[in-house]
Amino acid sequence: MKPLSESKALIKLDAIRTEFAGDIRRSYENKAKPCATCETPGACCLDEHFVNVRITRLEAKAIGNALKSMPSKLKEKVYLRIENAVEKYGLDGRSFENYACPLFEKGIGCLVHEIAKPLPCIAHACYERKEDLPPDQLLTEKETEIANLNERVYGELTLLPLPVAVKQILRTSL
Ligand code: SF4
Ligand code: SF4
Repeated sequence: MKPLSESKALIKLDAIRTEFAGDIRRSYENKAKPCATCETPGACCLDEHFVNVRITRLEAKAIGNALKSMPSKLKEKVYLRIENAVEKYGLDGRSFENYACPLFEKGIGCLVHEIAKPLPCIAHACYERKEDLPPDQLLTEKETEIANLNERVYGELTLLPLPVAVKQILRTSL
């Protein structure tokens, strides 16, 4: 597999995310409940029995970069939530515990919505009919593209719960 620099891979990752988000918006999202009308905004992100998003190191790097550019007070709050989530839910990368996502900020929403949202989160919405959901294959194809990018940069692939992956990145880049 041809090696790739991290900075180039981050640009390609952004392109994959943007294309995927466009596909979802154009072909599926109009059949789902609009989040703007949600009576419980963020219930999906804060449900500790539901969220189990696992991400690559490259995606964690993109999220880490997004967090670093946030105002200091917000950044400190999120860093603390990440630490707490790892501890509270016993996340270690070897088990499959669910967690409430530390990237959800009340009054704002997903802090990485535009810039580094993981693909399963982009695909997620509240659909009434199962047949209206985006096909799993669409997500799998794009996740495979990201996994390949990740391997070209780091030479290995480990999917970790988002709080663990981001905590590791922040630890090595602060
Ligand atoms: S995905 Fe569903 S639960 Fe989450 S904010 Fe949108 S409508 Fe609400
Ligand atoms: S990354 Fe964003 S959309 Fe995904 S669970 Fe966390 S707050 Fe929600």
